[in-house]
Amino acid sequence: MKILLIALDGLGDRPILEKKSILKNLKNKENKRKYEENFRDFELLTPLEAANKENIDRLAEEGITGLSYPIQPGIVPGSDTGFLSLFGYDPFRFYVGRGILEALGAGIQIKPGELAFRANFCTIEKKNNEWFIKDRRAGRISNEEAKELAKQISNLEIEVSDEKKRKHKFECSFYHTKSHRGVLVIRKKDLKEKTVEKGMKEGIELNPLISDIDKHETGKFEFSKPLEESESAEITAKVVNECIRKINEILENHAINKERKKKGLLPANCILIRGGSMIEKTNKEGTVKEGADYRGLYGWGVSIKPFYEKYEMKAACVAGGALYKGVARYLGMDVIEVKGATAGYDTDLNAKVKAALNALNNYDFVFLHFKATDVAGHDGDAEKKKEFIEKVDKAIAPVLKLKDTIVVLTADHSTPCIMKAHSADPVPILIWGPEDRIRRDNINVFGERTVTRGGLGQIRHADVMPIVLGIIEKAKMFGT
Ligand code: ZN
Ligand code: ZN
Repeated sequence: MKILLIALDGLGDRPILEKKSILKNLKNKENKRKYEENFRDFELLTPLEAANKENIDRLAEEGITGLSYPIQPGIVPGSDTGFLSLFGYDPFRFYVGRGILEALGAGIQIKPGELAFRANFCTIEKKNNEWFIKDRRAGRISNEEAKELAKQISNLEIEVSDEKKRKHKFECSFYHTKSHRGVLVIRKKDLKEKTVEKGMKEGIELNPLISDIDKHETGKFEFSKPLEESESAEITAKVVNECIRKINEILENHAINKERKKKGLLPANCILIRGGSMIEKTNKEGTVKEGADYRGLYGWGVSIKPFYEKYEMKAACVAGGALYKGVARYLGMDVIEVKGATAGYDTDLNAKVKAALNALNNYDFVFLHFKATDVAGHDGDAEKKKEFIEKVDKAIAPVLKLKDTIVVLTADHSTPCIMKAHSADPVPILIWGPEDRIRRDNINVFGERTVTRGGLGQIRHADVMPIVLGIIEKAKMFGT
């Protein structure tokens, strides 16, 4: 038995679309009847409920469904912690920090002593010496423009002095990943020639315990502050802030931004950073497969058992966004690069599905990730979220023909359009497979509220892998 896990990022939502007009547009009579029956008592539908999605509904109809809390009630998951949880790794123990995961996903080797952040191109405005964040994603700047701008900030030298006026040199490198996204890495300048083993503890060290500049909000721009009273945290915050100022200086006058302003578009004149994290030890290749120790915002991490050891399953990931590839690499999964896979609406859905299905020939477990449902949630665009779900639905049609495969379809968290942010709401989940393995329930429309009557009941993401292992008869016996 093989396992295909399909994740629609941020799929969960709240009722927002008017049922009347949705039903009016449903052409298929059978579908219309089903939707009328399921949503009889509601006036508003969520994007998932409203989506015309015959394939996903079939998976639900031929499968078992339920509602899952990604971490636990009352915890708002990030994508990173949500997926760790879904793969069966307790995020409270194994979360390493966004920066490291994002860097791993982008294929950047982070060495011990280096500090990595998730970074966004953004738009800032200045009024009377105060900085304001106007847009956190610089109007979702195009890949090409972002790539070009990134070249200008790929290698900056920053010098700061400590309290005793001693000078320290650092190097800040911005690596572009997809559209407005990237990774910022800060390293000590003079360590470059020295071996990692010998030179790391020399002089001042970088420290991930500084505040995020990106707080997922627009408004006042707040520079980074140390989160503990230590020289290293103070110096690190200083370096980060100097670096941001320098980046702003460089980007502000760049031709691309002048052109964007002329066209009435938002300039990408600064970057926002979050999730600063460091790695303590790596194996020789600088990868993390062998169970390294990590240092993220949550302090020292613990050694991690790779997915293939934990479940004795060879696993692969098909995703567009760096973070998802990063989580996969962190857990020792192989990442399959797919041409045309982006982390946006424009992603090549068919190419990704094809790659995932191909991978099932060589792997026991395939993680297939779609991002744009979350993007639409953050943009507050329920129509677009619904449309993207419908696109995914069309693309995954071949999945229904799979033999000897368990398909899990769910999300890492909810991103309600009305909140434009992640929420603590549980997410719908379905598990599909051969009829003699799955105890089908009688849910025929996949939605946040229909699945509450499903056979899985309410679970947590931590239960998903154990449930699947049970289905494929790999669960361990307890007792005699
Ligand atoms: Zn997510
Ligand atoms: Zn999100």
